[in-house]
Amino acid sequence: MSKEILAGIDLGGTNIKIGCFDSGLRLLARDSVPTEAHMSAKVVVDQLGAAVNRLVQGLGKGARLVAAGIGSPGPADYKKGIIFQCANLPTFKDVPLPQMLSERLHCPVAFDNDANVACYGEFVAGAGKDVQDMVFFTLGTGIGCGIVSNGRLIQGATGNAAEVGHMIIFRDGRQCNCGQRGCVEAYASASSTARRAMEAIQAGRPSSLKGLLEEKGQITSKDVYEHLAAGDMLAKQITDETARALAIMCVNILHTTDPARIVFSGGMIAAGQVLLDRIRYYFQQEIWRLKKETVEIVFASLGEDAGIVGAAAMAKEKIGL
Ligand SMILES: [Zn+2]
Repeated sequence: MSKEILAGIDLGGTNIKIGCFDSGLRLLARDSVPTEAHMSAKVVVDQLGAAVNRLVQGLGKGARLVAAGIGSPGPADYKKGIIFQCANLPTFKDVPLPQMLSERLHCPVAFDNDANVACYGEFVAGAGKDVQDMVFFTLGTGIGCGIVSNGRLIQGATGNAAEVGHMIIFRDGRQCNCGQRGCVEAYASASSTARRAMEAIQAGRPSSLKGLLEEKGQITSKDVYEHLAAGDMLAKQITDETARALAIMCVNILHTTDPARIVFSGGMIAAGQVLLDRIRYYFQQEIWRLKKETVEIVFASLGEDAGIVGAAAMAKEKIGL
């Protein structure tokens, strides 16, 4: 008997994660292959296609791939299906990724921004599965975002909606990698959190992080949270600034789409409850008083699987399965 298989793919600069799912989005098999980012896009997609086909074949004779979904970093035109360029995949320039992949997998391929895909994963099977309106943020090197409104992802004219990390929250503020000043990302991503701590130490602020900075030449946001737990005052101030920037972002997005739930994901949530508590505290400080707010601010629940689950769910939707 033939069994319909959906593939969910999370294309990262270091690894490509692949999951094979049944039509009920139950995970049947998974694989992770290194991204040969220095190779041409054609070679990367060849290897990806071969890995997906291998995984499907491993599911037995009746297994038949009916659709795939892939989340990738951008910038891209997600509606036309073209990656313009990508910091982590330097050879990807004007690459029609979903079309190339579709030729190798012989099935339709859904394509979206990696944050949107992870958002969709949390929406269908994770921290947002019981609501119709949610906003998702992933806190890593940058800040990714996805918005689900009335059960659907907001896409925009070129599929680039929900770049909320580049919402300007401080006029003439810190320089952001995107070229603007004062973006949330310039304050509250994992890398900006670490950078602000390093700048403060270099400016002479006392901190238990100083020894670490001298020893390793840099510190990470994880170091900041570890020293916060040990009672360092600078680490507390840096965390508060991060949490406040995220809280202001939450207030702005609340007034934009009125979500029932705001979900935080990404490496920085390893900081744990203390970060979530501070975001909630500043959210209560900043939010309007016209009505009682019911939005819940929570951590994601699927971890790194959100990308493959969301991509498979998009594949399923694409073929109306
Ligand atoms: Zn920016």
